[in-house]
Amino acid sequence: MLLLIKFLDQHSETTELVIFASVLFLCWNIENLAALTLNYKKWKHAFINAHFIVTNLPNSLLFSILFAKTMQWTMHHHFGVVYIFHPFVHPLISFICSFLFLDFGEYIYHVLMHKSKRLWTFHMVHHSDRIVDISTTLREHPGENFVRLAFTLVWVLLTGTFFWVLVLRQIIQIFSTSIAHINYRLPQKLDRFLGFVFITPGLHQVHHHYQNPYTDSNYGDVLSIWDRIFGTLRRMPPEEVVFGIDTYMRDKEEENNFISIFKIPFKDLKQEDKSTPENPVGS
Ligand SMILES: [Zn+2]
Ligand SMILES: [Zn+2]
Repeated sequence: MLLLIKFLDQHSETTELVIFASVLFLCWNIENLAALTLNYKKWKHAFINAHFIVTNLPNSLLFSILFAKTMQWTMHHHFGVVYIFHPFVHPLISFICSFLFLDFGEYIYHVLMHKSKRLWTFHMVHHSDRIVDISTTLREHPGENFVRLAFTLVWVLLTGTFFWVLVLRQIIQIFSTSIAHINYRLPQKLDRFLGFVFITPGLHQVHHHYQNPYTDSNYGDVLSIWDRIFGTLRRMPPEEVVFGIDTYMRDKEEENNFISIFKIPFKDLKQEDKSTPENPVGS
């Protein structure tokens, strides 16, 4: 454990990059092997979502510096919840507690994105994807990206999260979020078993269903325990899941236009229709 802490402290950025690339590659190929993905234009879809890597770059650069400065400050002043118990516990216990704090923070953040009308218009960009696959993880409007990073920064400040904990948590989160968005269904029994603790593809696909109350459920990031505790966990038969948002169902042409997707938070959606769409992946 101590060796791992030391390694992450020294190689955090490279480790994150290698892990992210490997997870992406792995999930991408699992999707390719699954017959489910053969009936849509996967590369075109991924290319549109990949535009968000570029638009979110300035936020990533800015917040990398802010996170480093904040953690330096909390370490120097022993500020934050973890410093209360840290001197008395093993690093592993310290990691588990910090992990739970951070994951709970992500749950609160996600609920806020759904409940605040203004924030929802930004989060809608992620939900507007009519095909949920690994590339959907990239589909985050820079407005939301900014709010998410700012929220996490405040959370890190309050909890006093250590640098290595944040990096390790980030690695687990990349795995978990990528797998949750994978266009592949785990066997139902396995999905139910894992879903007792984790957000599985089955649970996150319900969150991407186009209608409430399903959209407003399964908010968890890595763990599903918060949804169980706060009564927001829902399941539905996988074959009934239809991806998208009832207030923003667009035809293929508009769905394939990045500028149009980017402008979603600034559109007047009051006039939108709520028609029942066909699921484009036929699931
Ligand atoms: Zn959501
Ligand atoms: Zn999602």
